[in-house]
Amino acid sequence: MSVTPPALVWFREDFRLADNAALADAAQSGGPLICFVILDEARLPGAAARWWLDGAVRALDARLKGMGGALHVFRGPSQSVLRRIVEQTSARSVFWNRRYDQKGRETDAAIKAELKDAGIVAHSHAGALLNEPWTVRTRSGTPFQVFTAFWRGVRDLGEPRPPLPEPKTMSFAGLPESLKRDCLRPDEYALRPQHPDWASGLRDAWTPGEAEAHDLLDSFLAHDLTAYATSRDFPGQDTSSHLSPYLRSGHITPAQVWHAVADRTEAASETDAAKFLAELGWREFAWSLLFAHDDLATRNLRPAFDAMPWRHDPEGLKAWQQGLTGYPLVDAGMRELWQTGWMHNRVRMVVASFLVKHLLIDWREGERWFADTLVDYDPASNAMNWQWNAGTGVESAPFFRVMNPILQSRKFDPDGTYIRRWVPELVRLPDSVIHTPWEADPDLLRHAGIAPGQTYPAPIVDHREARERALAAWRGLKAD
Ligand SMILES: Cc1cc2nc3c(=O)[nH]c(=O)nc-3n(C[C@H](O)[C@H](O)[C@H](O)COP(=O)(O)OP(=O)(O)OC[C@H]3O[C@@H](n4cnc5c(N)ncnc54)[C@H](O)[C@@H]3O)c2cc1C
Repeated sequence: MSVTPPALVWFREDFRLADNAALADAAQSGGPLICFVILDEARLPGAAARWWLDGAVRALDARLKGMGGALHVFRGPSQSVLRRIVEQTSARSVFWNRRYDQKGRETDAAIKAELKDAGIVAHSHAGALLNEPWTVRTRSGTPFQVFTAFWRGVRDLGEPRPPLPEPKTMSFAGLPESLKRDCLRPDEYALRPQHPDWASGLRDAWTPGEAEAHDLLDSFLAHDLTAYATSRDFPGQDTSSHLSPYLRSGHITPAQVWHAVADRTEAASETDAAKFLAELGWREFAWSLLFAHDDLATRNLRPAFDAMPWRHDPEGLKAWQQGLTGYPLVDAGMRELWQTGWMHNRVRMVVASFLVKHLLIDWREGERWFADTLVDYDPASNAMNWQWNAGTGVESAPFFRVMNPILQSRKFDPDGTYIRRWVPELVRLPDSVIHTPWEADPDLLRHAGIAPGQTYPAPIVDHREARERALAAWRGLKAD
């Protein structure tokens, strides 16, 4: 009697059952499925995103277990682990969704070639973008450098394909005994922090998983899309979708989000829907840039900035990281990041500008800190946004446009809701001075329980002086 060999489904950045082309294809192939993930040290993200990955793996494992399968977890270099899984299961086919960073592409190409030599078919499918990065191009076939033109290019391609449903039926194969030994138990994933366990804020803020992603999207569409274009800038209102970590780990796809928005557009104004979809467009643009510049996180796209006299300032960097700069909006943002692994987009811009311009610290320090602390850390979006905010990107805001953290605070958190949420020592300050506690009357400070320099720091730099210092450094650069 012949036994149908299993179909291997390798999950990477796509922890979901619906709109998963690789899974759908494998389910149709007829073989029983073996679903697995490989924890490859060379590809593990920063600490907060690792915590998320742990939850993503457990959530998908639970769903598959409910259907009679499992998500098997292996550790080691992807290529050798996959080789062993293929050998031990006698599989004839492997299915995955593509990833677009250069190292990932190279690994996948090497694996595909090896599988082909062994007579095994690798079925790879389009990954977590609306369009694969090489499909949106200028008329002359080059990548777009400017977002508006890029986004027009995307819109010209028409509606994204409709999302796939979950496979209707799936059968699963068990692991051979020889492989079971290699498989990790959840307490062996080693993705959660142990000593100390700093993740309680992350646990309070998030539940990774496919169902949670869809609940969040439904709630956003029902309540917050209607005023998105304006309210998205106000961190106290906190009305953006919070979908970023779910998109990053593939609990939900941009195509699913796009179609859900399109189906609801009558409930929102076209302006709000278009603005929200354009944010998904920025994510696509970031990936097209990373595809074109694999060193986007390390090299100034504008080479003139290679000569920028960045300051070596470990104390300033630490104050920024810990949310102790003395600028309430900056501190609120950095503390939100530390506690929840996420920060409101407007505040990300303010803190990035503060690090790069007020402290004149190299943007790459900020990029690395975000990479380690964001649950939604995305190598393309993070690098692009840092370059854009630092003025080192191709089409970025010019360096000389220095964001004023006080004016930003007054404009976007006028009643101090956001500041009071994350900087509790300032909670009793009246709105009039919450953005500039150093200007408050000493009696008022005492009354609010604030001892300047003790319970809350004095500003670590003077706004005007810091601005002048940044502009002087920038003027010294040769034009590129
Ligand atoms: C310095 C800096 C670093 C950043 N690093 C990251 C990162 O590592 N990962 C990440 O996903 N986003 C990053 N962003 C972009 C943005 O801040 C987040 O995507 C957004 O705040 C996520 O919240 P949301 O899901 O509620 O967004 P929404 O406003 O609801 O937007 C919907 C989706 O659009 C995408 N999006 C929105 N804004 C941007 C943007 N500016 N660039 C790219 N995609 C965007 C995200 O996928 C987001 O989930 C960064 C921004 C800055 C200024």
